[in-house]
Amino acid sequence: MNILNISHHSFYPGENCQMNSATVQKKSLKKIPIIDNQEIAPGAFVLSFKRDFLFIPGQVLAVTTHENIAPRLYSIASGAQDEEIRLLYTLKPDGELTPELANLKTGDSLFVSGPTGKFFGIAGPSVWIAAGTGIAPFVSMWRSGLTKDKILIHGSRFLHSFYFEYEFKNALGDSFIRCCTKESGDGVFYGRVTQWLEQQPTLWPDKKYYICGSAEMVVEARDILIDKGISFDKILAEIYF
Ligand SMILES: Cc1cc2nc3c(=O)[nH]c(=O)nc-3n(C[C@H](O)[C@H](O)[C@H](O)COP(=O)(O)OP(=O)(O)OC[C@H]3O[C@@H](n4cnc5c(N)ncnc54)[C@H](O)[C@@H]3O)c2cc1C
Repeated sequence: MNILNISHHSFYPGENCQMNSATVQKKSLKKIPIIDNQEIAPGAFVLSFKRDFLFIPGQVLAVTTHENIAPRLYSIASGAQDEEIRLLYTLKPDGELTPELANLKTGDSLFVSGPTGKFFGIAGPSVWIAAGTGIAPFVSMWRSGLTKDKILIHGSRFLHSFYFEYEFKNALGDSFIRCCTKESGDGVFYGRVTQWLEQQPTLWPDKKYYICGSAEMVVEARDILIDKGISFDKILAEIYF
């Protein structure tokens, strides 16, 4: 398996194209054909294409459909050994890229960077905290076999938005906690992930904490963890913006 050879099919986004992460440098992208683009829940899609590079679970790719659209970042949501790369994304109807992504059909082209980012999954005991599509890096970690000693807390607005919940229930059992803000459901905490965290009398001081989602959720969750005695160096965050 080779790391992306990007020289042949690549392009550089124009000077006016800003990638939406300071952590990713302007870099060339490779044109690849889409294998599938399925709506797995209302407004949520899993897009897939053949993997021809290595990555570490938790890493992201920069993606766009066209040179004129600045690439956006998406966490890889497939296992490190899977033959396909999968990306989980939600349609932002007023957004620039996701309406284009949602229209892609099998065989259509996508421009994709190599993997980047340092939100690396590890084998040790960890608490995974996600909101919405922030579940994606944990899907990658789960599919890469990193589920031992893991607790997953996933927040979503609707019951249908616990993406991959059956797989996580199978893999993690009672260590999979769902928090829903707009609907109540069996075994589901009614409220935000941060409210669930706040209500716990104690957390797990020796575990590592991974937080992924919006800036607001990540910052709030981090503050709660620190208030509850989790040391700063045990907290790793990936902010989607
Ligand atoms: C490290 C990282 C990983 C990520 N991983 C994922 C992932 O796995 N899955 C996922 O779904 N997303 C992920 N994201 C978010 C993703 O990169 C995009 O930001 C998202 O998909 C929106 O793209 P878009 O082009 O459709 O919307 P954009 O065009 O970027 O717009 C986003 C929203 O902002 C609004 N907006 C745009 N411009 C303005 C303006 N000038 N004033 C006010 N509002 C405005 C739009 O109406 C829209 O609702 C990640 C982000 C980061 C940084």
